[in-house]
Amino acid sequence: MKLICIGRNYTDHIEELENERPTDPVIFMKPDTAILLKKQPFFIPDFSDDVHHEVEVLVKIKKVGKYIEKKFANKYYDEISLGIDFTARDLQGSLKEKGLPWEKAKAFDGAAVIGSWISKKELGDVDNIDFHLEKNGEIVQEGNTRLMLWKIDELIEYVSKYFTLKIGDVIFTGTPAGVGAVKPEDILTGYISNKQFFSIKVK
Ligand code: ZN
Repeated sequence: MKLICIGRNYTDHIEELENERPTDPVIFMKPDTAILLKKQPFFIPDFSDDVHHEVEVLVKIKKVGKYIEKKFANKYYDEISLGIDFTARDLQGSLKEKGLPWEKAKAFDGAAVIGSWISKKELGDVDNIDFHLEKNGEIVQEGNTRLMLWKIDELIEYVSKYFTLKIGDVIFTGTPAGVGAVKPEDILTGYISNKQFFSIKVK
């Protein structure tokens, strides 16, 4: 399975990193080895002094598809979760400057947190999901999927032009503003509405 990640999908986050507003979704991938194993802490890798949390809504693909039209995209997923796209911001900065791929900064072991899954039926409108991230009990990131530049169904249409989607693939749909560095002993907890989807200890 693969993790397909969307960058720059919320205006407020584009502004905080002073990135250009994209004309197409920004896409990158993480391998399955990036998934943080259940109940394991996140270890800050030794090649970075500035690892950031990016909380994101996740979509699990349940059907193989290619060239999926937006109007049929909702048939390709039933489950939603919340996760973290950990990013070595210092390393990403130097790679971006040189025009190099971001993988070393984004796809390293443990860089993908996947929370528990909930059915979209239980969740209601997928284009109106309220979510937030708490660091040590304080809210650091808040978002709602209605503020995405490209909504979930549009992302599925776009991504599937390039990559065949397979059962179990996960789409990370982008992060809202409030990204920031983590340090050892931080506790990161993610919520959709008031339901907790993950709790991670940083080491
Ligand atoms: Zn991200």
